[in-house]
Amino acid sequence: MSRHIVVVGTGAAGLAVAQELRHLGYDDALTLVGAEDHPPYDRPPLSKRFLKGASGSEQLRLADPDALKRLGASVYRGRRATGADLTARTVSLDDGTVLSYTDLVAATGVIPRTLPGTAELAGAVTLKTLDDAQALAGRLRPGHRLVVVGGGFLGTETAWTALSLGCEVTLVTPTPTVLSGLGGQVGAVAGERLAAAGATLLTRTAVEAVRQGDGLPADGALEVLLDDGTRLPAETVLTAMGSLPDVAWCATTGLDLSDGIRCDAVGRAAPGVHACGDVAAWYCPSRGAHLRLEHRMHASDQARVVAADLLGEHRELDRVPFFWTDQGPHKIVVHGHIMPDAQFEVREADTEHERFTGVYRTDGRVCAVLGWNAPKQVLRLRRELLTGPEPAAVAPSLAGAPKSG
Ligand SMILES: Cc1cc2nc3c(=O)[nH]c(=O)nc-3n(C[C@H](O)[C@H](O)[C@H](O)COP(=O)(O)OP(=O)(O)OC[C@H]3O[C@@H](n4cnc5c(N)ncnc54)[C@H](O)[C@@H]3O)c2cc1C
Repeated sequence: MSRHIVVVGTGAAGLAVAQELRHLGYDDALTLVGAEDHPPYDRPPLSKRFLKGASGSEQLRLADPDALKRLGASVYRGRRATGADLTARTVSLDDGTVLSYTDLVAATGVIPRTLPGTAELAGAVTLKTLDDAQALAGRLRPGHRLVVVGGGFLGTETAWTALSLGCEVTLVTPTPTVLSGLGGQVGAVAGERLAAAGATLLTRTAVEAVRQGDGLPADGALEVLLDDGTRLPAETVLTAMGSLPDVAWCATTGLDLSDGIRCDAVGRAAPGVHACGDVAAWYCPSRGAHLRLEHRMHASDQARVVAADLLGEHRELDRVPFFWTDQGPHKIVVHGHIMPDAQFEVREADTEHERFTGVYRTDGRVCAVLGWNAPKQVLRLRRELLTGPEPAAVAPSLAGAPKSG
């Protein structure tokens, strides 16, 4: 019987599944369904080079038009899956099309959380898609007042980019530091750098509401009301408070959607259904738990494992995940998984070159390594600590790490 593999979601994960299937010799029917009306593109530059105007949308493309044609796939672009029937093996699209499949791959990513009451406010935005980035780029001009709500990777990266464009940036976060997922020490260094570049950081502060109109100047300005009663005027408010798995379309399928789509260690969610990328929580044998990561390289690594599994080839996911973030001129790279209770310890610090490396430990074991402007050094640590025996010496604090100014 010939097969028909339907991939829902044409981001990094969905495209990589299709590419790997063809690479491994799959030559039956392949269909891609993507809600966005763009060819597959890469998201990380949206908050960095693209937003800054240093690269165009062509440079974001994950595959050139010829390579996409060579995939020999039926593509439904700008079409959203609205439902699936796992018994009948069909997927319904928002234009009424019903696709029959032998195998379904869910790669629908995540959607940004929003602040209540902001959906209709012009100037209250999120940053997830190319369209979002284009709209935000059109607003960021010298002197423009931007309030960023959230101090994670997206919020801080966008704050850096907006500063470089001459905007007045205030970042509000309920956490004690920005990048709190990297721990207090690294978060404090990141916050110092961002403040030194000109941002106003309001930590341990929550946003209660964002308002427009109602006695405010009629020029479209917004007002951000904070939990200490402060009112911040802004032309743009970016909500960057994390994301939720995009699973509405498969809500009634019976799949386990407790945190995204729950899968085994090779991405199987149910008979005939795989999931990968940001939407998928894969079982991690070394941790004995399901993990859902929102990292670019992890999405394509999982996609390749799924494609192989679909063709009966067993592969395992690299047990060491990897992600990076560009904080203005600073590049942070992390290998491994930072557990919520992990303690950070500095390994090497080089003040002259503004770089340091460190390790995260939980229960005495290293779970992740970090490099701040030190991509080569952190690779060495990765080899030593996450894939080999651990050396003994560990420096006690961030005392030798670069100081701001
Ligand atoms: C601004 C930004 C900056 C980032 N920077 C970094 C970084 O520096 N480092 C890093 O490691 N990671 C970064 N990431 C995260 C990284 O981009 C993601 O991990 C990666 O894009 C995940 O790929 P994915 O294919 O799983 O999901 P996505 O890229 O989200 O693709 C999912 C696609 O599925 C589509 N879709 C959703 N529902 C449906 C439906 N029902 N029917 C059809 N299509 C649907 C969506 O429209 C979307 O196009 C960043 C993300 C953003 C938004």
